Amino acid sequence: MKEKIFFEGKWQEGEKYFGVYKKGTKEIIYEFPESTDEQIEKAVSYLEKNRKKVKSLTSFERYKLLFKAKEILEKRFEETAKIISLESGKTINEARFEVKRGIETLLFSAEEAKRIYGEFIPMDASEFGKDRIGFTIMEPDPIVLAITPFNFPLNLALHKIAPAIAAGCSIVFKPSSYTPMSGKVLTEILLEAGFPPEGIAFLTGGGGTVGERLVKDKRIRHISFTGSKEIGERISLVAGMKKKTFELGSNSALCIFPDFDYTRILERIVKGAYALAGQVCISIQRIYVEKSIKEKFVEDYLNILKNLKVGDQLNEDTDVGPMISESAAEKAEEWVKKAIDKGAKVLPELKREGSFLYPVLILDAPEDSEVCAKEAFAPLAVCNSFETEEELVEKVNNSEYGLQCGVLTSDIERAIKLAKEIEVGGVIINDIPSFRVDHMPYGGVKGSGMGREGPRYAIRDFVEEKIVVIKVK
Ligand code: NAP
Repeated sequence: MKEKIFFEGKWQEGEKYFGVYKKGTKEIIYEFPESTDEQIEKAVSYLEKNRKKVKSLTSFERYKLLFKAKEILEKRFEETAKIISLESGKTINEARFEVKRGIETLLFSAEEAKRIYGEFIPMDASEFGKDRIGFTIMEPDPIVLAITPFNFPLNLALHKIAPAIAAGCSIVFKPSSYTPMSGKVLTEILLEAGFPPEGIAFLTGGGGTVGERLVKDKRIRHISFTGSKEIGERISLVAGMKKKTFELGSNSALCIFPDFDYTRILERIVKGAYALAGQVCISIQRIYVEKSIKEKFVEDYLNILKNLKVGDQLNEDTDVGPMISESAAEKAEEWVKKAIDKGAKVLPELKREGSFLYPVLILDAPEDSEVCAKEAFAPLAVCNSFETEEELVEKVNNSEYGLQCGVLTSDIERAIKLAKEIEVGGVIINDIPSFRVDHMPYGGVKGSGMGREGPRYAIRDFVEEKIVVIKVK
């Protein structure tokens, strides 16, 4: 089945197509166009030419259409979940959870559309500002480029597009080539909800071709990218002077102190390492357990891990689905083998069948081994021990990334101290680092990115504050 792209206000065919397969299999389920240079040029020119149509929408109109989009997504709930599961490989239950979150992201964005305020500036606070009134208005960035990853093809696209709509921007949406159908559904929903067709382009195709061509386009002044650090660096190099919001990778840590009864949340801990086959940016990758409780923790953890069911993502009882590709699974397997060579122990066993990598816990991997120091993005977690808080902080911060970190302790002073000392965008006390609700400020430091998402915070990035000064005498 050949699918279409959306530009110049209508769905259009491509010239060349690429296949999208059901993850875990080699079955091609549909084909999407590889957008051509000419189509991209037409798409961006059309958005620029029709910019006024989007800019003239009132806050109330933007609120209403985002709210309507939420209602349409609610109606298309199960169909959308199935598409996400098929093309991303996450289990059907994980896909349903993503749609629920997408509904909330739309709702939060709709609400925020009504709260985009400027400020009154006391001009006469300056010796030279007498008899002047100053206030600011929030001007939307005209065209925002949303480039999105495969792992949350709906909700992470919504985290860019819905706040951009709330702010009054026009949008070019380039989804991951692994998961374009979720993006198509989202575009359909926004159009049905009343977003002007003159304000959105949905362009599929390769990152290195279509993505990069868009990144270089001078008419696009804001790039909102979620993906790997490596591609973020590449975009930085080629984009030139543009605003950038980057949500990148991580090797998130969970720190466990003996004063916290970890058994209360042990199932969540295990889930936090293997959800979406470990392909969550805030997946638990490094577990640091205080030395005296490590042995018991590992025993308890493995008792839950051994019951996880690996299998077809559409089966209701599957816990861990396939990875996004066989090559991604092979790379992770290779990293585990290298850690074993360096003295690490892998439990229960290293096993891979095509793109299915069975979940493992890796004990005593050296801190500089890939499974510890790099982003694994696979169903694996490393468990190492620490003896002092200083040692723990040094290990956690010894990372090129800094997205979120979980700290389990019942000592409030220690919790606050660590919250200040750990170099990340979010510290989650007494829960796993993978915790996120969609209205909180979310983003990283160091190699994990710049800028924050969460509708209220994304909107701040999508607008420029313009000062208006009136001389009154
Ligand atoms: P990726 O390989 O970096 O790709 C992300 C997007 O960038 C895709 O749409 C891709 O298109 C496009 N792209 C690739 N090369 C490009 C280029 N040269 N110019 C412009 N666009 C380009 O990431 P992924 O494998 O899809 O997703 C996994 C990564 O995303 C992980 O590192 C994960 O941690 C990160 N992530 C971060 C967050 C967060 O909020 N911090 C959330 C989710 C995921 P193609 O698919 O066509 O190549």
